[in-house]
Amino acid sequence: MENKLNLLIDKLALTHSLTLSEYEYLIENRTQESADRLRELAVSARREVYGNSVYIRGLIEISNICKNDCIYCGIRCSNKDCERYRLTKEDILSCCDEGYALGFRTFVMQGGEDPHFDDDLLCDIVSSIKQKYPDCAVTLSMGERSRESYERLFAAGADRYLLRHETADAEHYSKLHPSNMSFLNRMRCLRDLKDIGFQTGCGFMVGSPYQTYAHIAKDLKFIEEFKPQMCGIGPFIPHKATPFASFAAGTVELTCYLLSIIRLIHPTILLPATTALGSIEEGGREKGILSGANVVMPNLSPMDNRKKYELYNNKLYSSAESAQAKAELEERIKNIGYEVVCHRGDAK
Ligand code: SAH
Repeated sequence: MENKLNLLIDKLALTHSLTLSEYEYLIENRTQESADRLRELAVSARREVYGNSVYIRGLIEISNICKNDCIYCGIRCSNKDCERYRLTKEDILSCCDEGYALGFRTFVMQGGEDPHFDDDLLCDIVSSIKQKYPDCAVTLSMGERSRESYERLFAAGADRYLLRHETADAEHYSKLHPSNMSFLNRMRCLRDLKDIGFQTGCGFMVGSPYQTYAHIAKDLKFIEEFKPQMCGIGPFIPHKATPFASFAAGTVELTCYLLSIIRLIHPTILLPATTALGSIEEGGREKGILSGANVVMPNLSPMDNRKKYELYNNKLYSSAESAQAKAELEERIKNIGYEVVCHRGDAK
């Protein structure tokens, strides 16, 4: 078995591709040795492309109002215990002012699917940020929209778009989402985004309810073939006010294993050590970077709102997950041999 694992890892490092059943084998039969080996190869692949730089993005959670009812998500519309908020254009611009002064050169606007943020408003906000800070990249993570909407946002100056595919298996998708959401539309959105010219990010939760190793193999194959510029993965963490409250959380161990594999599939990919990874275990973020991740996204939202953007329980928003604590984050990254850099941080 050890031998087969080694052969698969060599093949992956060399050809950046495995078959579905090979991906599944590599995950299902993982050992401490295979994890160490993947990590070493991933770290050296990452080092060749990005040296020891870690890119930072300021995350602004612009609204927790959402018309969708994703079963895993704490801000799903049927969670009546969630205290809702939305930021104004002025709020968002002042987050950018604060972030710019702190050294951030990418702003990520994320939110629930809040109809208030129609194309006119969102385009106005994007173009105002780009006008004020032409040296910054703007990333959007605002869910599923029409092709026309994505085209307008791109024309307004948005550079990147994050839309996790959540799972590459249609049946699994339907277990995580209500029946009015469709796997096909999610995939349509991702294809449109890439086609329009956005640096596009997909991704999925590790250990989401009903997820199997075969599903994860499909996720990896999708990532391999779709060739996203970015990929966000983090452990699923249950939220008490959702139907998935009693499901187990994903693990740091498997998330890090998959980060190494994704780094080897696409050596140049922008791969964040996500907030979920940092939230589930002290030092999780650092483990992610040591497994091949090269991006961190501390929170730049107004302090009063952070607690309310609760996708899952115990989500971190202070300390090194806080943009204001950039010095602490820099120190922690330095302690593991890496360096936070302050430019836009585009994919190579
Ligand atoms: N409305 C936007 C942003 C969603 S929140 C969109 O649809 O893209 C960003 C990501 O958080 C989601 O894509 C999902 O993968 C993740 N997420 C949501 N609930 C979670 C949970 N309980 N545990 C871990 N990650 C979660």
